[in-house]
Amino acid sequence: MKIAIIGAGFGGMAAAYDLRKAGHEVTIYESADYVGGLASGFKEPHWDWSAEKFYHHWFASDKHMLGLIEELGWKDKVLFPRPYTVMYHAGKFYPFDSILKALLFPGLGFGINKIRFGLVGVFLRLTNNWKALENYTVDEWLRKWAGDKVYEMMWQPLVVGKFGERYYKQVNMAWMWARLKARTTRLGTFEGGFQKFADMFADRLRGMGVEIRLQTPVTRLEREAGSSQVSVRSETTEMYDQALVTLSPEALTRLVPSLPEKYLHGLRSMKSMGAVVMAVALKYQLSEEGYYWYNLPKSAGYPFLALVEHTNYVSPERFGGEHIVYMGDYLEPEHEFFRLSQEELLEHFLPALKKFNPKFKRDWVRKAWLFRTAYAQPVPLVNHSQNIPDITTPLEGLYFASMSQVHPWDRGTNFAVEIGRRAARLMMG
Ligand SMILES: Cc1cc2nc3c(=O)[nH]c(=O)nc-3n(C[C@H](O)[C@H](O)[C@H](O)COP(=O)(O)OP(=O)(O)OC[C@H]3O[C@@H](n4cnc5c(N)ncnc54)[C@H](O)[C@@H]3O)c2cc1C
Repeated sequence: MKIAIIGAGFGGMAAAYDLRKAGHEVTIYESADYVGGLASGFKEPHWDWSAEKFYHHWFASDKHMLGLIEELGWKDKVLFPRPYTVMYHAGKFYPFDSILKALLFPGLGFGINKIRFGLVGVFLRLTNNWKALENYTVDEWLRKWAGDKVYEMMWQPLVVGKFGERYYKQVNMAWMWARLKARTTRLGTFEGGFQKFADMFADRLRGMGVEIRLQTPVTRLEREAGSSQVSVRSETTEMYDQALVTLSPEALTRLVPSLPEKYLHGLRSMKSMGAVVMAVALKYQLSEEGYYWYNLPKSAGYPFLALVEHTNYVSPERFGGEHIVYMGDYLEPEHEFFRLSQEELLEHFLPALKKFNPKFKRDWVRKAWLFRTAYAQPVPLVNHSQNIPDITTPLEGLYFASMSQVHPWDRGTNFAVEIGRRAARLMMG
């Protein structure tokens, strides 16, 4: 078959790999001038590694991604350091990445609340019945079983941070279950950064005969009455036996308005959050304690949700001795942070760095980069699994595989690979 794939993120590239291996003729259309999509990176000439635009790592449980890397023969390029994650409580930060550290965390005191926190955590780790949890919201289930205080201290800041005031009370409990289930304390990356991996993967695909057309946005997909093929319009229009779209549900509604109304309605009912991430290269280390990831509750007044010092995870030596710090947040695309300039956002964000290191001064910043995306985090509502749009769309020959169809697991490159490969299997019957 002659197959078009729209999007050269990890979902599109994983699908292309399997389809090409089975002998099909594959063309990938990519609007950007690079591959890797949301997991792509940026690099300065004096850096050996790239840094991800939106901080990225793998968990040891990411078997689809790690399995693919093994198949490609690059297992020895995956590194799994054990960086420190910390939680905020009353103006201070506490490591929170082992059972012992959780037990010592002072936020819950040392009485009944800590016991409830422990019991709920153990139950969620042991149960596999996520379908039952999907009927409840995180807010109602955790309030009931962990209690208001434990929920408000430990989990509410996470859901408010990821899904905002608008959606946090609607997110289903299976999503939280999956998040707790999949997390590991060791976090994985690729030697050279995720962009290096994406570029190596693209080169491998090209070597196998896949055509990757960069800077080629697709504007329309159609199946004309009586035709057995799908037309793909970009700067030219070409005919394919099948096409796979790996963009957001909203983008699919724009690219294929001729989809039946019921399917379009399903796509439109999918909710998602955007992300705004500022990365800065600093002359000095910010977190002198060596912390990698700071979880910040919105209620504590920080202008962002997470502070991530990448070079407390990957050595600054890989970045010419510079210290890479991200300040990130999940926000609705209407939020003013999507309109403000980089300078305006820096004015907003930089003063908060003093709270992590009182010695911080503005002249520590050598360079800043601002990354924004309107589609960053799907919102899994109650009973989400019953509303997920099918990978096989009602338009014959057209397939759809996006982050919004990943459930109950939290979206990630691991699940982009899984859904891309699942779509490839469906396309091949
Ligand atoms: C802030 C943030 C943090 C994250 N952290 C992690 C993490 O730690 N670990 C992890 O594994 N995952 C993480 N993720 C998620 C991960 O990046 C995604 O799940 C994954 O990259 C999705 O891959 P994809 O192929 O489905 O989509 P995408 O990567 O979005 O790929 C879609 C591609 O389509 C292209 N495109 C768009 N429109 C068109 C068009 N009209 N024509 C042609 N091409 C088009 C885009 O340029 C893009 O390259 C994070 C994401 C964000 C936003």
